[in-house]
Amino acid sequence: MDLKNLPPAMISQLVSMVEDYINSSRKKYAPQAVPLTDAQRAAMQPFFPAVVLDSARLCVLHGTRVSNPSMYPMAKMMGIRNLPDFADMVAITFVDVIVSHQEFTDTLLFHELVHVAQYAQLGVKEFAARFVSGFVEGGSFEEIPLEKTARALEARFGQNAGNPFSVEDEVRQWRAEKI
Ligand SMILES: [Zn+2]
Repeated sequence: MDLKNLPPAMISQLVSMVEDYINSSRKKYAPQAVPLTDAQRAAMQPFFPAVVLDSARLCVLHGTRVSNPSMYPMAKMMGIRNLPDFADMVAITFVDVIVSHQEFTDTLLFHELVHVAQYAQLGVKEFAARFVSGFVEGGSFEEIPLEKTARALEARFGQNAGNPFSVEDEVRQWRAEKI
């Protein structure tokens, strides 16, 4: 099925299900998540505003994986293929709670904090809407602009962590161009 032919009512239903998944996952993992360490904060401080670094919470899972949204069986029945498998991802950010399947490196933390900055600017509803529309347009998780931006900025950080830039400005600029 061509995702672009999905009726608008179905798209908005998917958006609200993704939104529910984000909110309920955040609630689930928040109690076991901790603030950045001083070292992590020092490494990220040149790139992110204090509000992002203050609000972010980290959680490393051991012996368990993040589960996929409960709507997946339904989405599959609707003929949607290529759904991202969250259990296979290195880490996932739910608003300000970053859940990882492995220990944090600075590069991984940077990437996920870009998502925290995106959530902070967009709000959960808009983030979910862009997640779904990006998937529908691009056909895969990798093609979602929220994800592509995070990867591009992560690469920039990885190439030269000694050359600071404002992720907040980058996200704002990206958002202005996308609208
Ligand atoms: Zn990402």
